[in-house]
Amino acid sequence: MAIHFISDLHLADDTPALTRLFLDTLAGWRGRIEALYILGDLFEYWVGDDDDSPYLEEALAALRAFAAETPLFVMRGNRDFLFGAGFEARSGARLLDDPTLIEAHGRRILLSHGDALCADDTAYQQFRAVSRSPAWQQAMLARPLAERHAIARHARAQSEMNKQANGLSAISDVTETAVQQLLAAHGWPTLIHGHTHRPGHHRHQAGDSHAERWVIRDWHGEAGGYLLLDDAGIQALPLGG
Ligand code: MN
Repeated sequence: MAIHFISDLHLADDTPALTRLFLDTLAGWRGRIEALYILGDLFEYWVGDDDDSPYLEEALAALRAFAAETPLFVMRGNRDFLFGAGFEARSGARLLDDPTLIEAHGRRILLSHGDALCADDTAYQQFRAVSRSPAWQQAMLARPLAERHAIARHARAQSEMNKQANGLSAISDVTETAVQQLLAAHGWPTLIHGHTHRPGHHRHQAGDSHAERWVIRDWHGEAGGYLLLDDAGIQALPLGG
């Protein structure tokens, strides 16, 4: 049996092909794998556990059916960081802290979304610190649902404009310093993260210490991918189109 890792699906009401790929993938893996870890940005945005949008209901029902047979773990990303206890109840998933260290198939593996490692993006890191505070989140969740949707749509449009203007800028990748600090703090485990949309397999070294870092592929268009961990190690595999 194998453990699968996915991240950065960015499911939204206007990504029906990706939602279909996700539903088909869950149905194919349900009861056939050891566990599934979703390491952030499952959804393009999450405005609160009370969001009753139809595309969410469809995905959450599929997650619940999956979790009834197979352990399901979800980490918050920078888009769906407002996941709370209501999300756990609706999805059957268990929320994980970022980072979380697991041991499986003879390896110590550190799981993270990856946004905290993009240390050169100081404006984003400031927003991240503020938006993770209980006071900010309580104030946001106290707004009417329609208003939260409007805020999310606005943030999404801003992000699209930035992406078109700047492309994949250097500040949207992890820094070597941040990666090494995180690895050192946990005794140089294998690191798995997403977020950067730069799928890859890297080695990091400092003195006698070294570790592997795997970046999970994002999903877009009609295709995605995942990392598979079993006794043979880790491999990156495609899904869909
Ligand atoms: Mn992200």
